[in-house]
Amino acid sequence: MALLVQKYGGTSVGSIECIEKVAEKIKATRDAGNDVIIVVSAMSGETNRLIELSRQVCENPDPRELDVLLSTGEQVATALLSMALEKLGCPAISYTGSQARILTDSAHNKARIKDIDGARLRKDINAGRVVVVAGFQGVDEHGNITTLGRGGSDTTAVALAAALHAEECQIYTDVDGVYTTDPRVVPEARRLDRITFDEMLEMASLGSRVLQIRSVEFAGKYNIPLRVLSSFEEGEGTLITLEDDGMEQAIISGIAFNRDEAKLTILGVPDQPGVASKILGPIADGNVEVDMIVQNIAEDSSTDFTFTVHRNDYDRALIILRKVADELGAREVAGDNKIIKISLVGVGMRSHAGIASTMFRTLADEGINIRMISTSEIKISVVVDEKYLELGVRALHEAFELERPLDS
Ligand code: ASP
Ligand code: MG
Repeated sequence: MALLVQKYGGTSVGSIECIEKVAEKIKATRDAGNDVIIVVSAMSGETNRLIELSRQVCENPDPRELDVLLSTGEQVATALLSMALEKLGCPAISYTGSQARILTDSAHNKARIKDIDGARLRKDINAGRVVVVAGFQGVDEHGNITTLGRGGSDTTAVALAAALHAEECQIYTDVDGVYTTDPRVVPEARRLDRITFDEMLEMASLGSRVLQIRSVEFAGKYNIPLRVLSSFEEGEGTLITLEDDGMEQAIISGIAFNRDEAKLTILGVPDQPGVASKILGPIADGNVEVDMIVQNIAEDSSTDFTFTVHRNDYDRALIILRKVADELGAREVAGDNKIIKISLVGVGMRSHAGIASTMFRTLADEGINIRMISTSEIKISVVVDEKYLELGVRALHEAFELERPLDS
């Protein structure tokens, strides 16, 4: 018998009706001869509701107490789903993260899974039960309840799949897979049958928020095939795996974009050792994460230095950078928070030339000015004015024929 781990997200268990439908799906999977471990999120909206309740008590609740509170959302869903399974005549048993022996570090609200003792779950499976585990939570070595960060149920599912050597980890959600880009921007966007872990990480971190990034990292590290599918429609979904030499591979898998970008430039800084760290040191100390960094070739003995940050951090970064500019005797500080980033992602880039030039020509043909460029082995990103987001993504989607399935 194959062991599958299936995770159902908040919308999939958002009402009793949904929970009963999910129970039927699980029963069908079992009747088809599989062993299953189920991981559930809290019913949709529940985690936000709990956070809001805590805010009514105090602005910054104690992280440990917040974890005790938030973990209840998932606990409710496990019990209801187990009851629904039992009602269908399918033996089931629910567990909190702690009961399932999901051991984490003690970093409340963003804990990391260290180890899972799967013996207890294994016994239940061998006894013919469906095991239903609360996602998003664990227990530290002192017995404190911890949670794994928003979206953490995905990571619970992958970790359980790794610990119990499941054949596949299936993430059931409200979309039917991973798309070449956001269908709300490009209606012709196509569901991908397969994508590699590396590509998915680039797509996810760039804003295609289907899975918690950490779950993809985890699955890649332990080579757990990860499948994203719809709870509401039939279909194969998208399989996320290692790169397979035998598989026909598209050159470009998808186009990701990020609306929340801002860029800052410090002009006329001395071109000397240590300047980059004098600029970015205070930015990091101010807890601002930097994404792209570009430094120009020096003219005279001074240079310009540009970097991008999350738009929410823009004002804070600007204040820090003005201080730095005074200290360094820089000429000027400039900024723009009406920019966005578009990225082309594909492992095929490694073996194909000319992708960047096609990308830049396509944007030029639309009259889109590129403000910044950065590349990695499987990704090319450009920063452009925010008004060009839709136009740019659509033009690139068409230029690389992403709407066409591989074999046609
Ligand atoms: N319920 C948690 C959240 O909303 C965890 C999850 O759904 O994965 O972030
Ligand atoms: Mg989620």
